[in-house]
Amino acid sequence: LSDRLTSTFKNLRAKGRLSEADIDATIREIRRALLDADVAVPVVRQFTGAVRERALSSEVSGALNPAQQVVKVVNDELVAILGGQTRTLAFAKQPPTVIMLAGLQGAGKTTLAGKLALWLREQGHTPLLVAADLQRPNAVTQLQVVGERAGVPVHAPHPGNQGAVDVLPAGADPVAVARAGLDTARQKQHDVVIVDTAGRLGVDAELMAQASDIRDAVDPDEVLFVVDAMIGQDAVTTAQAFADGVGFTGVVLSKLDGDARGGAALSIASVTGRPIMFASTGEKLTDFEVFHPDRMASRILDMGDVLTLIEQAEKAFDAEQAEKMAGKLVAGEDFTLEDFLVQMQQLKNMGSIKKMFGMLPGMGQMREALENFDEREVDRIEAIIRSMTPGERQNPKIINGSRRSRIARGSGTTTSEINQLLERFDGAKKMMRQMAKGGGMPGGMPGMG
Ligand code: GDP
Ligand code: MG
Repeated sequence: LSDRLTSTFKNLRAKGRLSEADIDATIREIRRALLDADVAVPVVRQFTGAVRERALSSEVSGALNPAQQVVKVVNDELVAILGGQTRTLAFAKQPPTVIMLAGLQGAGKTTLAGKLALWLREQGHTPLLVAADLQRPNAVTQLQVVGERAGVPVHAPHPGNQGAVDVLPAGADPVAVARAGLDTARQKQHDVVIVDTAGRLGVDAELMAQASDIRDAVDPDEVLFVVDAMIGQDAVTTAQAFADGVGFTGVVLSKLDGDARGGAALSIASVTGRPIMFASTGEKLTDFEVFHPDRMASRILDMGDVLTLIEQAEKAFDAEQAEKMAGKLVAGEDFTLEDFLVQMQQLKNMGSIKKMFGMLPGMGQMREALENFDEREVDRIEAIIRSMTPGERQNPKIINGSRRSRIARGSGTTTSEINQLLERFDGAKKMMRQMAKGGGMPGGMPGMG
């Protein structure tokens, strides 16, 4: 998915203003990219429809050029579908909080049970794991092993039997086990109960019935649907079946460490309207994280490269302005302190972009530059330049010692700050000269650093 979108955005980058035809061409590419990523067809249709509508609508932000705007729209839509804000677990007002896990066999429920238990324990909770998967004898053993690793007790069908359960008692009832587990938690004052349940290889009426019986018996605060992120197009039917058959409050994407293409995340979240809450990213108990919709969106968009796009657009920030200045230099006019001030103010305006993309990893040089950039400094520079006479602004060479003291007093700064500003201005001016000669914007931004 990422590669595909990356090249789409590269195409966009090469263009200036976006026409409706440009947007449609871009939407076509995004549609193809999403389908390649195994996002379900109806979801793709809905997603691209929403993006198109918003890209075409007139909510034009002055801080962004058209390509950036499409990127932002795509990003925003992805985040919205993936659940918007990160959703945290809903704890019961009256403990214990009951968390039930549901999903197909092999989805990663039992592994997740251990991860979640460890994560909760580390936050000061006292979870109890309940082995309500009695489909296979070793399912109970597996949960016991996981519990031991997590340092969390396990309620299993044979309370007296601490060893491995090789043979399940005939007629062992997962609903009864779940109920007994909850009782145990109350007695022993565990504040969270995690109920592991059975799965089948495919969606199955009997399995659904069992899961909803367990649900009715323990009245969970959260039912987490655990799903293998690699299942692709099947994600939608499976998720829909569990949504209808058992119902769930949140989704856990497992096996995100593999070459999952992210499509399942988008499909499930979109079709069920349930937020993705956690991600499982490996076989170790610590391979577990709270799911962040914005980070997943960046991952899908391969932000590394999208940010390059933004970086370049920003470097050429107001290319028109830069060209005008370059033209001025060629025409023999000079880059003045007024021009310098305009540039600094533009940098200040970029603060909004910093905020917008502040959440993203690896923004690189641009991010660093923005982070080191102190907005208050622009105010100081502005105060200094405003304290100069028009003549001084046009021709800073005339600013001698006594003028420097006067400007410092007028702007509430010191003469050494005036000196610094004039030095930076000289540097920027040299850069502008180079630009005029070379015709392009050099690597850095004038006045920065
Ligand atoms: P369950 O049938 O839903 O309980 O699934 P399990 O927890 O037993 O997991 C099935 C298999 O997937 C096991 O071999 C796990 O080690 C593996 N597994 C579970 N979660 C992850 C994950 O996040 N990443 C990887 N790579 N493997 C996982
Ligand atoms: Mg299991």
